[in-house]
Amino acid sequence: MRGLMMDAPLLITTILRHAERNHPDQEIVSVTSDHERHRYRYREFADRARQVANALDQLGAGSEARIATIAWNDFRHLELYYGVSGSGRVLHTINPRLFEEQLVYIINHAEDEWIFVDPAFIAMLEKVEDQCPTVKGYVVMTSAEAMPQTSLKNVQCYETLVSAQSTQYNWPELDERTASCLCYTSGTTGNPKGVLYDHRSSVLHAYGMALPDTTSLSATDAVLAVVPMFHVNAWGFPYASLLVGAKMVFPGPKLSVPETLTDLINDEQVTVAGAVPTVWLGLLDYIRKTGRSLEPLNRTCIGGSACPVSMMEEFRDEHGVTVLHAWGMTEMSPLGVLNRPKPAQIGLAGEELREQIAKQGRAVPGVEIKITDDDNNELPWDGEAYGALKVRGYWVCADYYRLDGTAGSHEDGWFETGDVATIDPHGFLKITDRTKDVIKSGGEWISSIELENIAVAHPQVQEAAVVGHIHTKWQERPLLVVVPNPGEQPDQGELLSWFDGKVAKWWIPNGVVFVEEIPHTATGKISKLTLRNQLEDYRFPDDDAA
Ligand code: AMP
Repeated sequence: MRGLMMDAPLLITTILRHAERNHPDQEIVSVTSDHERHRYRYREFADRARQVANALDQLGAGSEARIATIAWNDFRHLELYYGVSGSGRVLHTINPRLFEEQLVYIINHAEDEWIFVDPAFIAMLEKVEDQCPTVKGYVVMTSAEAMPQTSLKNVQCYETLVSAQSTQYNWPELDERTASCLCYTSGTTGNPKGVLYDHRSSVLHAYGMALPDTTSLSATDAVLAVVPMFHVNAWGFPYASLLVGAKMVFPGPKLSVPETLTDLINDEQVTVAGAVPTVWLGLLDYIRKTGRSLEPLNRTCIGGSACPVSMMEEFRDEHGVTVLHAWGMTEMSPLGVLNRPKPAQIGLAGEELREQIAKQGRAVPGVEIKITDDDNNELPWDGEAYGALKVRGYWVCADYYRLDGTAGSHEDGWFETGDVATIDPHGFLKITDRTKDVIKSGGEWISSIELENIAVAHPQVQEAAVVGHIHTKWQERPLLVVVPNPGEQPDQGELLSWFDGKVAKWWIPNGVVFVEEIPHTATGKISKLTLRNQLEDYRFPDDDAA
């Protein structure tokens, strides 16, 4: 027997409608290249999203057109999130840090029709314009007064185009499976792959994200999305914040300027923020030096790479901020697990607490997780067994865009994440490595993430990475790469003895290399591939045969 409930499709425009009707006075505050601090309210935002939809009609954008953005986090980008997807088109958010060839590849692969671009990235597009035949024109995301000179053909100014449109628009009643957004994820090898979100997955993800044991978002929060809107839809904050009616704060081009972030947190009374660990590394360093306060901040969502325990402790002990350690990926919209205690974890202290918070967390409702061995047998949730991490759920990618059948182990309906993990009896997942970054010493696995976590807690270390490096006797041994704190010259032997008693003796790295900078990928993760290539000629001191 079928139920008799309404068939209301899960559409991004339902979030917008709810937000406009119930929270018209809520604020959206942005730093942009043409505004030091732009602010308006949900009601104006909703009008502008409808104007964007009308503008796309005027530009003649097709009903399923891919509309690209190369832009920082700000109110205009948010208008495109809703105006493009709401009108049935697909918003393709492009990472401006991509290499030129990758940029050309994804514009052509997505067959983008129009590109909305921040003035800062015009030069990048001028170089590749001739190689992108599907693009009909460009819209520069600024005001008429700030419009830069450009050699791009068929260029419009965002403010001139959008403000001339009607604020009335009848959002179409789309099928909830209609594609809404396209985000390419660049692996270390091969071309980037497109993950195509739909309205249903985005709305369900927003609900999952707002739950009390996830980010616990509310209408009384002010959310600072530092994580870029080109990186997995800023982790879903643009949808979840509007869903609950929270104030939104965007850092624009200043997303890695600690002073601006601190100003925004204090001036705009930001209670929740989200960013990768490297951003927080810079911010905490700035706070230590200036003695400024993060008083309004209540919690920070940290993911993208493992959050060092020392960082979580500093946030908690010095600033009263709860770190929400989370794991996910582009293919998961991105939320997979998040670390919030269950009754059994309340009251943990000392080393037990440190071990607990180092974990990435437990499955968000809507996502299932499991670990398997090489023969695809499920491994126990005992906190000991390591295995390939597989996931499925409402907002997990079933296939990549125009690359049929490459989204992992689909024969049994699970997506293979490429991560290796343990899961404890309480359901808390701990990532030990990317499959390809696992260090295999004499056939035994060593977790690089665990070693990095210990290294960054050393008082003289600013950033650390551990990679597997060739060793004649053991095939591979851990090599520690360290960026010292400014003005510090740590002693190699002393650094290595820092690991004594913290891990098994055979896990301790065999060598240390000091560098000024550790290479990062376009999404701010440590690029272990680049690092391994850079260290190709290194030989361990104890590798006599080398
Ligand atoms: P991306 O699709 O670029 O967001 O990258 C996803 C990958 O980042 C995951 O498969 C993990 O390898 C890594 N990752 C994300 N969050 C974490 C975390 N909290 N700890 C460790 N690795 C993480």
